[in-house]
Amino acid sequence: MQHRPNKRFSPTRNRAPRSTPHPRLRASAVSVGLSCRWAINHPVNRAVHRKMGTLKQEEKLVAAGRGKWSQAGVPHKGWQCVDIEDLGELQITCQMCESQAIRYVHHMQHPDYSEVLEVGCICAGHMEGDLIGARARETSMKNRASKRKRWLTRKWKISQKGNPWLSTDGYRVTVYERGGGWAATVSVEGTSNVYHARRNYNTMDLAKLAAFDQITRIEARNV
Ligand SMILES: [Zn+2]
Repeated sequence: MQHRPNKRFSPTRNRAPRSTPHPRLRASAVSVGLSCRWAINHPVNRAVHRKMGTLKQEEKLVAAGRGKWSQAGVPHKGWQCVDIEDLGELQITCQMCESQAIRYVHHMQHPDYSEVLEVGCICAGHMEGDLIGARARETSMKNRASKRKRWLTRKWKISQKGNPWLSTDGYRVTVYERGGGWAATVSVEGTSNVYHARRNYNTMDLAKLAAFDQITRIEARNV
C-alpha cells in the first residue's frame, strides 16, 4: 500500500522502503479452532467467531449489491486503503454497502471518486481487489486492541527535559506539552523516520493514545 500522510501525524522524512517491512511486523494468524468447544468458548475465539459472522454478513451484502455496490458512478475496483482505525465498538455503517455496522474502519480512496469512503473489511477487500490483504490489515489492528488498553499503564520513563517517553516494539514514543496541550512524536528506531502529531491533545493520556494509534497505522501499512 502506498503511504500517504494522514491528518493526525506527519512524517518529517520518507519512511523506510516498502521492501523492508518493519522488524516487529509479524504474520498474526489467529487460530479459530471451531471444532473444539473449549476453543469456541475461549474469550479470544468467541470474539473471532463473532467477527467472522460480521465478515460473512458483509460478504452477502456485497454479493447482493447493496448500497453503493449498485450505484452508478461508484467504481468497484481500483481503490486504495489510505488509513485504518479502530472505533472500539461497532459504531458506524460501512459507506460502501451502506448496511454493515463496523468497528474497524478502512479508509478507501479512488482517483475517480471525490470522497474517501469509510468501509468494512470485506467491502475494502473487494474494492482494492485484495481480500487477503484487507483481512490481514484488520487482524493486525485487532491484535493491537488489547495492547492499547494497557498502553497508558506501561512504565513510561521521563526524559531529561521532563517528557514521558517509551521505547517499545521498535518505536520510541515521546509526549510533551505544546501550545497549552499535549503533542506526541513517534520515531522508528534504527531509521530516521519521525512522525509528529499535527494537533495538540487536551491531556497527556490522549497524546499517548494518539501515538499508539499512529504506530498501528504504520504497522498496518506494512501488512
Ligand atoms: Zn460494507
